[in-house]
Amino acid sequence: MNVPGQDPGPMISKSGQQSRFEALHLVDETIVFFSRSREDMSRSRLDAPSEFHALKNGLVEALNQGDCSEIPTRDMRNAIRLLGRVFFMGAIGQDVIFDWERDIGRLEEGILGSTHSYKESGRIRHRIYMNPSHTKVRTHMLASARVGTLLHEILHAFLYEFACADCITAPDNIGGKGIQNHGRAWHRLAQALDQYAPKLLELPDIDLSRLVTLRNWVERSQEARAEGAGPNDGRVWKPSIHDLHNLGFV
Ligand SMILES: [Zn+2]
Repeated sequence: MNVPGQDPGPMISKSGQQSRFEALHLVDETIVFFSRSREDMSRSRLDAPSEFHALKNGLVEALNQGDCSEIPTRDMRNAIRLLGRVFFMGAIGQDVIFDWERDIGRLEEGILGSTHSYKESGRIRHRIYMNPSHTKVRTHMLASARVGTLLHEILHAFLYEFACADCITAPDNIGGKGIQNHGRAWHRLAQALDQYAPKLLELPDIDLSRLVTLRNWVERSQEARAEGAGPNDGRVWKPSIHDLHNLGFV
């Protein structure tokens, strides 16, 4: 699927109609896209990290503030667009709206951000919210946690838009409502982003909260079992020992 010097992204975004792909196939191609050697990258993809670095200087300082709601949402949208070019084949970012939202943190302890995807005039759009005053993070720098949250949310938007929900593998690979789509596909790409994003963005310690989402996944499964859900109910599905091994948890 990858031609040296060309991005697979336009194949996704310029196909004229909504293209969708089997979730793990999409994720694997995406990982190839951002982990390729420099010689195999297109100009647009090569330029994106340096554009991000130019934006980053002021942004990281602002994202390290306890309350970062002063950052214009326009700057955050810019960051999302650039992260889309670095990591998501350039296929995500144009139709994303960003808002600061303090109420997310009140809904559930520990929630840094959320994504609402919807259709409008035949197009899929995404609204990403982040809590500007949430400071209970595991990273040394708040900015690393917040960039990790942005990547976490863009990944949700990306899978919503391009992973096929009708594939027979979708219940297993995307995951159901109970785990907010933090299934195998989300985790596999999040693991690669945890590995590559600090290097490509030159920002240490980026954290997509994989451990917290994995714990929620297992807890939701146990709750569903306790409620009497049967083996064919997707809510009871939980990661296998092989998943945990592949995802680097064991
Ligand atoms: Zn999430």
